[in-house]
Amino acid sequence: MYKIKLLSSKMINVIAAGEVIERPSSIVKELVENSIDAGSKKIIVTIRDGGKNAIVIKDNGCGIDNKEIYLAIKRHATSKLANDDISKVATLGFRGEALPSIAAISNIKIISRTASEETAYYIKLEGDNIYEEGICAGKIGTTIEVSDIFRKAPVRLKFLKSEKSENMAITEIMKQLALSSPSIAFDLYINNKRKFTWYNNFTLDASELRIKQIIGEDFFKNSLKINFDRHQMKIYGYTSLPTHNKVNWSGVYIFINNRIIKDKNLLGAIKASYQGVMAGNRFPLAILYLIIPNDLLDINVHPAKTEVRFKNNQNVRSLIINSIRQALDLAGLKTSTLISRSMINSINTPYKINSQRENNLSLDFKNIKKDDELFKNINNLDFDKNQNNDDEGNDNYLGIAKAQVHKTYILSQTREGIVIVDQHAAHERLVLEHIKEEFNKNRVPSQIILVPEIITLKEKTKILLDNKEALNKLGLVIESFGNDDSILVREVPAILGNIDLKSLINDLADEIIDMGGIDLLSNKIEGIFSTIACHNSVRAGRRLNTEEMNAILRKMENTVNASQCNHGRPTYIVLNLKDIEKLFGRT
Ligand code: ADP
Ligand code: MG
Repeated sequence: MYKIKLLSSKMINVIAAGEVIERPSSIVKELVENSIDAGSKKIIVTIRDGGKNAIVIKDNGCGIDNKEIYLAIKRHATSKLANDDISKVATLGFRGEALPSIAAISNIKIISRTASEETAYYIKLEGDNIYEEGICAGKIGTTIEVSDIFRKAPVRLKFLKSEKSENMAITEIMKQLALSSPSIAFDLYINNKRKFTWYNNFTLDASELRIKQIIGEDFFKNSLKINFDRHQMKIYGYTSLPTHNKVNWSGVYIFINNRIIKDKNLLGAIKASYQGVMAGNRFPLAILYLIIPNDLLDINVHPAKTEVRFKNNQNVRSLIINSIRQALDLAGLKTSTLISRSMINSINTPYKINSQRENNLSLDFKNIKKDDELFKNINNLDFDKNQNNDDEGNDNYLGIAKAQVHKTYILSQTREGIVIVDQHAAHERLVLEHIKEEFNKNRVPSQIILVPEIITLKEKTKILLDNKEALNKLGLVIESFGNDDSILVREVPAILGNIDLKSLINDLADEIIDMGGIDLLSNKIEGIFSTIACHNSVRAGRRLNTEEMNAILRKMENTVNASQCNHGRPTYIVLNLKDIEKLFGRT
């Protein structure tokens, strides 16, 4: 065996650097966070060769005292941890690790000046060795130049990606930093070219302007404002309409007390908020700012400080879920403008539509109140006698049905334009909301099947029988039958009409196996509602008369979340007359 020996301070720094500094973008993150902590109003970042050869961060913050510069680069030296109390930390940094870690793997020059000093002071160092220092010209603030990155960590150097992908990683982290601190101005230069300028925002809604700059107007037009507080915690920001979604999580940014946070558990809460209105393999876009009192948080979890622990996980999850759900419910019938825009784009016109006009296409929306009475009996679609059939003068949001096309779509006329409804998607949504309502009231009403059906499920039988009581509350009455292979179904939710019972029961069994049982109180129960609603007597391909079509439209107007089916697809599209006129070049 070899003898045990203490590591040299140089080796300790190199090893620690491995935790904090993964790639050039980590250096950018640490240094910009220091500039933010220093109260800077403007931060300029310059990068050369994907950050491998040079990273320069210049700020106009409070600066470092001449006599303290040499301390800043010592391991575990920080000005941010007063009284040894991490729970009082209000800055992004507090571990005193970034500068020594960066110094351990590259060359650094620090130039800094505080308000009480006449001139700036600089130091140049390699590792922890200052080899040059002195007075120099400079404004109040700090500039840190990092060069020869990873020269002393050749393994890391080997693992670096192409210049292009390192640049992308740096741009991405800059976007996140700029979103985290919307009132600070940022400039990013890559290889002497200006890549971004984000100006100071001192308005009340600084984050709104910054989000518009960084994420874009499309996100804005297709998102809902979040503003909610509970249990001493606050959440604000924007979250996308269910119809405006992505294939992964790349559109979601979470900031807790201005800190960039990566947390699977919180992403899970966001996903759960969209349960029932977005397909499982699609993800929303969201920029969420959480303000949580320090004593409810542990920020000292991860060297890169991107993770936190909560005193009460469940409270944070429910803060997120409640705020998003509330916004979605309030939005009622709002639907994505992108959808109607892409529809416009796909219509062939004999000449090109001016793209600027295209961008002005807009959709109205109106909050629709819930009316319990209208949920009563969706299957007996009854025609409202008082309805005003004079089309020009009708004020219904979804208009008056004019025709059914391809036995699938309802075309209706509104005061302002036309609406196209996907009758199957709409019906599915109405059924889902109905089941949810009845379930929340007491029990989903069921209907007795005249000849009880025997369904053979093999090994899935047990899980269904184990959850018999819960299923009963959902309007499904089942019993064990003969051997362990089959069940007997006696009653089904009345709303469903004539369905393929075998496939419903099979799908339910799969869903329950995935969930490990039905928990009636969990928000996962939405998944079960969706599965049931999916199996309604399918109305696509069914011919509807005018009265039935109008009844569907009126029910939709009175149903929350009616603008999407359970899979996040829209249930209807609005085309305003102005837009139609544009298509025909009338304006
Ligand atoms: P931490 O940020 O955790 O304190 P760092 O190693 O990142 O640790 O920085 C060490 C110290 O150097 C900071 O506590 C701060 O006092 C000082 N410092 C670093 N960068 C700046 C800056 N841009 N402006 C003012 N002070 C800075
Ligand atoms: Mg720091």
